[in-house]
Amino acid sequence: MSSRKFKDETIAIRTQTERTRHGEHSTPLFLTSSYAFDSGDEMADAFAGITEANVYSRYTNPNVEELVKKFCLLEEASAGLATASGMAAVFSSIAGLLNQGDHLIASRALFGSSIQVLSHILPRWGITCTYVDPVDLSGWEQALTPNTRMVFLETPSNPSLWITDLAGAGAFAHDHNLILAVDNCFASPVLQKPMKFGASLVIHSATKYADGHGRVLGGIVAGKEDLMEKIAFFNRHSGPSISPFNAWVISKSMETLALRVRAHCRQAEELASRLKDHPGLEAVIYPFSENHPQVDLARRQMEAGGGIVCIKVKGDYAKTLQFINHLEMISISPNLGDTRSIATHPTSSTHSRMTEEDRLTVGITPNLVRFSVGLEHIDDIEEDIRIALSKI
Ligand code: PLP
Repeated sequence: MSSRKFKDETIAIRTQTERTRHGEHSTPLFLTSSYAFDSGDEMADAFAGITEANVYSRYTNPNVEELVKKFCLLEEASAGLATASGMAAVFSSIAGLLNQGDHLIASRALFGSSIQVLSHILPRWGITCTYVDPVDLSGWEQALTPNTRMVFLETPSNPSLWITDLAGAGAFAHDHNLILAVDNCFASPVLQKPMKFGASLVIHSATKYADGHGRVLGGIVAGKEDLMEKIAFFNRHSGPSISPFNAWVISKSMETLALRVRAHCRQAEELASRLKDHPGLEAVIYPFSENHPQVDLARRQMEAGGGIVCIKVKGDYAKTLQFINHLEMISISPNLGDTRSIATHPTSSTHSRMTEEDRLTVGITPNLVRFSVGLEHIDDIEEDIRIALSKI
């Protein structure tokens, strides 16, 4: 690509592997486990890092590099890497940096598996975590210990759509010399760029909006170069690398990321507005809705409200599952960010392994349903929900 400074939409389309002698227009798929050298000396130099060359696809691969480069440019991060899933990105961003005895502060409102990693996996290696309020940062200081090294958060949070003040979190991390890691999966770099607010690392499940069509898994960590070097060392030797095929699929999808994400946002905002007075609902939650308690903050740090809308059905667990069972078009699935609309019941699926008390603290009530609002016609999405509500 030329050295001109391009806008994000152009970056996502025009960042591409070097054209091969075949002159292909679209990036080919580099399905190779290793790379061949003309001599043993050449391979030795590549292994020693004296020359920059692909050696083995656990370390680097042209398709993976293309994907990582796009994310780094979009997230305004100086370095990055891709992983086999979003959870591999979450895990390696912590395990690659923290040592036995280290402590981190994490928002209480996180994706269910992130909580399992923090509460049950990392403590086995002596890395401990204190959960803090995602909204009220005034209590964060009390959670600090002499060994605190990192703040980990997700905004908007999965599923309840709490917004954490990124500028406030950035200032807190800076004042206490902590790494600030932000899972930016729900917003994508189209809507929010955490590095601008002082994040040290940005994490993505590329399975979601980056792929955008519900086909493959992938994860991204991007951030400051010194931190990324350590995570890259951890990943190179522990091996959670993304497959070149998945990287190729996701990178191609990124060409339409901005278009899709903005369309998802328009659909979600419209759906939230159409459902807000429905008599069968106790609540409709959307970050850019006037009744969201943090709408001003959401508007300050996000370009639009995102593609997720949550509803609280008037009724209990059983009635809520009945509602989901009556959906005809909308898929019942744990994924999000797909062109197809998806309904998820967090209490019985993505967040089922949390204690009930922990779920309720972050607003995951038994009647909460998370909608990943897809790109079907908005009238059809609304009608599917209205019909299902009328049947319970
Ligand atoms: N982070 C968030 C906010 C998520 O919603 C998810 C998955 O739903 C993940 C991380 C994990 O991503 P993956 O399923 O790609 O491992």
